[in-house]
Amino acid sequence: MEKIPPEIFLEICIHLYVKDLYTLTLVCKLYRKILWTKAISIQKVWTCSRVLSFDPLLPYPSLPPSKFMSEQEYIWFTLLADKCSICKIKIEKKDLFGCRYWEFSRICCKECIKRKTVSIPFIKMAMPNLPKDLLECLPCHKRHVFNVGDEKLYWTDDLQSIVAKYYSFENEQERDIWVKEKKKEANEFMDEIHKYKWQDEYVYFFPYALNVN
Ligand SMILES: [Zn+2]
Repeated sequence: MEKIPPEIFLEICIHLYVKDLYTLTLVCKLYRKILWTKAISIQKVWTCSRVLSFDPLLPYPSLPPSKFMSEQEYIWFTLLADKCSICKIKIEKKDLFGCRYWEFSRICCKECIKRKTVSIPFIKMAMPNLPKDLLECLPCHKRHVFNVGDEKLYWTDDLQSIVAKYYSFENEQERDIWVKEKKKEANEFMDEIHKYKWQDEYVYFFPYALNVN
């Protein structure tokens, strides 16, 4: 690497497909360090690579990154990750769309989702005194359960940390300002990921349903 001028290195990188660029990050620590930084020039390299890798037969992802993710995180999340982020079990490509939880920024197998999330009935039972508006401070995954109806799931660790933070305030006014701010953040986040969830559903229902892959 010392012998390759940085501008030439980046010039080479922008002509690589996402998978090859990712392989390059595994070659040595230096490449990894350079290619995972959030510098604008490096983000642009990954953007070029994503555009180059775009397959019109499987137009995914067609949106630019969410404002809550860097280009690398977005590429990892949509194109590279193929394992459950918790138990690391490999997930088949055709099943990835149902395992990509934008609300939690995680890919999770069904078993881990069961273990790592809690539903509102469970929260009411386990934490009967939980302040009502605290749940509005967290993103949640909505799903339909047969014979039950719509159910909201919350990431347990996030819930625990937000509860701990809530009770750590000594000043009630400061706490209320914080809750208000958190609610706003959660709302903005849920609004933003809505289009990405739609993007996943579109690709799931079209190319895979038609076996165009
Ligand atoms: Zn898992």
